[in-house]
Amino acid sequence: MDADSMEPVPLVPEIDFLDRLGLDRELLNHAFAFSRDHHVGQTRKSGEPFIRHALEVARILDDLKLDSVTIAAGLLHDTVEDTDLSIGDIQTEFGEEVAHLVDAVTKIGELQYKSPEMAHAENYRKMLLCMARDIRVILIKLADRLHNMRTLHYLPDGKIERISRETLEIYAPLAHRFGIAKMKWELEDLAFKYLEEEPYQAIVEGINSKRRERELYIEEFNAPLRKKLEEAEIDAEITGRPKHFYSIWRKMQTQDKSLEEIYDLLAIRVVTKSVKDCYHVLGIIHTLYTPVHDRIKDFIATPKSNMYQSLHTTVIGPRGEMVEIQIRTLDMHATSEYGIAAHWKYKEKGKTDSALDERMGWLRQVLDWEKDTDPGEFLDLLRTDLFQQEVFVFTPQGDLRRLAKGATALDFAFDVHTEVGFRCVGARVNGQIVPIRCELKNGETVEIITSKSARPTQDWLEFVRTSGARSKIRRWLRQANKEQATQTGKEMLEREFRYAGIQGNLEKVLKPLCEPLGYQSPDQLIAAVGRGDLTAKTVASRLKTKTPQPEIPAEDPLSLEKIIDLTRRSVRGVRLQGVDNLMIRFANCCQPLPGDRITGIITRGRGVSIHKHECPNASSERVEENRLVPVDWDVDRGQTFPVKLVVFAADRHSLLGDIARAIGKIKTNIRSADMTSEETDALGTFIVEISSLDHLAKVQSAIKKVRGVTGVERRELI
Ligand code: MN
Repeated sequence: MDADSMEPVPLVPEIDFLDRLGLDRELLNHAFAFSRDHHVGQTRKSGEPFIRHALEVARILDDLKLDSVTIAAGLLHDTVEDTDLSIGDIQTEFGEEVAHLVDAVTKIGELQYKSPEMAHAENYRKMLLCMARDIRVILIKLADRLHNMRTLHYLPDGKIERISRETLEIYAPLAHRFGIAKMKWELEDLAFKYLEEEPYQAIVEGINSKRRERELYIEEFNAPLRKKLEEAEIDAEITGRPKHFYSIWRKMQTQDKSLEEIYDLLAIRVVTKSVKDCYHVLGIIHTLYTPVHDRIKDFIATPKSNMYQSLHTTVIGPRGEMVEIQIRTLDMHATSEYGIAAHWKYKEKGKTDSALDERMGWLRQVLDWEKDTDPGEFLDLLRTDLFQQEVFVFTPQGDLRRLAKGATALDFAFDVHTEVGFRCVGARVNGQIVPIRCELKNGETVEIITSKSARPTQDWLEFVRTSGARSKIRRWLRQANKEQATQTGKEMLEREFRYAGIQGNLEKVLKPLCEPLGYQSPDQLIAAVGRGDLTAKTVASRLKTKTPQPEIPAEDPLSLEKIIDLTRRSVRGVRLQGVDNLMIRFANCCQPLPGDRITGIITRGRGVSIHKHECPNASSERVEENRLVPVDWDVDRGQTFPVKLVVFAADRHSLLGDIARAIGKIKTNIRSADMTSEETDALGTFIVEISSLDHLAKVQSAIKKVRGVTGVERRELI
C-alpha cells in the first residue's frame, strides 16, 4: 500500500475516547486507518471485525492515560503478526518509536507458554527481558491480554483454560508488580470466572444479594465518620465497596471458610487532600472504632515496591464486623489504580518525573543488572524478583509447588503433609542435604528427610514462613505445653500442699477454689500454676485460712531518702509511705491492679517499680531487702490500668465484635483487640483499661457470657 496517497480516514463514529488534551490525533487517526485497512476481512472469534480488538486495546491504554505513541502502537500491535506487513513497514510509516513498541509486543506474542513450569523457563525470561526494556511494552501487552480475557468466552474450552491460567500465573502478577491494581483485579476476576465457574457465580450472587444490606451497613459505618471529619474540617471522600471476587475466593480457600464466614468483605476508602489529613483521619477512625491489633500499616512512610502508598487499618465496625480501611491522598489513589501508568503521563509533558524514577527502583535495578551481569544471572534475578511474593519449587516427582517467598524446607514439608512436617529433620535440595531452616529458591527440587523421633520445637516458629505450617506447629506446641503445664502444676501444688499440711485428692481440694480464682475446672487451675500465672503458695494460702500473712518488709529510711532523690514526676495511683511525687511505674511482668497486694522496688535511676506482692521478680530472693518498700494503693476515681486478657473460644461469625461489645457494655475501654482462628478454635487478645480487681472480675465474667467463649485469662502485657 502506498501510504502517501492515503487520505487520513476519520475514526468511526463510536470511537469517542481519544479526546484527551495533548493527544496527537493525526498520528492516531493514521494508525487506526492503517491498522483497519490491513486487518480488513479478518474477524475475531466473536464475529466482530478484527479492528475492534485493536481499538479496544487502544481504549484501555487511553484509560491508563498513556501517550499517543503507546496508543498508536496499541492500534498497530497485531499488524506484523497477523497481516503481511513487516516491522520495516511500520517504521517507514510511523517512525522508530512506534515500530520498536510493535516489534517488542510481536516478539512476546511469538513466545509459547506451555505450562506453569514452562513459564519460568527460557521463553518466559526472554519475554520479561523484552518488557523490561520499555515499560510501555508491558502496558500494551497487558491491555491486549485484558481485552482478550474480556472476550475469551468465544474460544474453545481448552484454550479458555490455558489462557486463563497463564493470566493468573503471569499477567496478573505483572500488573501487580507495576502497581496497576485496576487491571490486576479485572484480570484475576475474569480468569477466576472462566476457571472456577460455579464458585465464581456463587460469590457474585452472594455479594449481589446483600447489596442493599451492605449499602446500609456502609452508611451506618460512614455516617459518624463523616460527621467527625466535618467537625475537624477535613475535606475527604469516603467510599465503600466489597473486595474483588478473586481475593474473596482466595481468602475462602486459604482460611477454608464459606462466604458468610469471611469477616472482612468490605473495604472502606478515604481519599484526602493531604498527607497530614491521612494521619488525622486515621486518628479519628480509631476514636470511633476499636482498631484490631497489628493490622495498622503505614505504606505512606514506607511505600510498597510498586509505588503503592496508603494507610491501612482494620477496625471493629458497629455490628461487630471487621472492616478494613484504606486512607490516602488523591495522588496516591491514582498511583494505586494506575501504578506505573499514572507516572508515565508526566513524561509526555516533557517533565521528568523523579517520583517515577526513584520509586520505580525495581525497574531501574533490572536495567542496571542487564549492564553488569551475564544474561543467565540477570534473568535469574529478574525472575526471582517478579515473583517476589511467591517461590516455585518442585517435588522429586516433578510436581510444581508454590510457597510464600522466604519459605524454608520446613514449610515445604508441611505443604506436602502435616505428618511429614512434624517428622521433618532436613531436606535434599537439588540433591544436596540442607537443614530444615534453609530458604528455598525458585526452580529448586526439594525432597524432605524425615525421622520417626522428630518433634516440633518452639524455635521452628522462627523459621517457618507459611501461615499453614505456623498454625500447625503452634497447635502442636500448645497441646504439648498444656500437658507439660498440667504436669508441672500438679508437682508444684503437691509439694506446696505437703509443706502446708493440706491433704486429700488434689482435684477435689481445688474444686471450691476454681470459681473465686476465675478458672473453670481444677485442670485449668493446675495448668495455670504450671504456667506460672498463679503461684502454688497463693493457692495453698487460700485453702488454709489460718496461714499467716507474709511479713511486710520493714521500712528502710535510707531507701526512702533515695526515693525522694529520685523524685522527678508525679504518677498518681500509688501512695508510698505517705510520700507523693514519685517516679513510679507499674511492672510489666505482673501488671498490678488496685486491690492486688503490692510491693515497690527501688530501681537504679528509674524510680520505683510496683509489682504484685507475690510476683517472683519482687521476691526477697531476687531483690536485696533494702530495695523493697511497702506501698499502698491510692487510686483516683476513673484512673485505669492496661490489662491484657486472652480469650479462648469456639470460632464463629462476629465473635470478636460480640466480645468487644460485651466489654464495651460495662463501660470499659478497649485499647486493642485481635483474634486469630485455627479451624474451629479462636484465640482473642484484648488490652483493656481496668480500674480495679472488681472491675477486672466484671469484665472477665462479661466475656465469659459471650456465646462460644470457653475461658478468659489475664496475661503479662508484653
Ligand atoms: Mn492482540
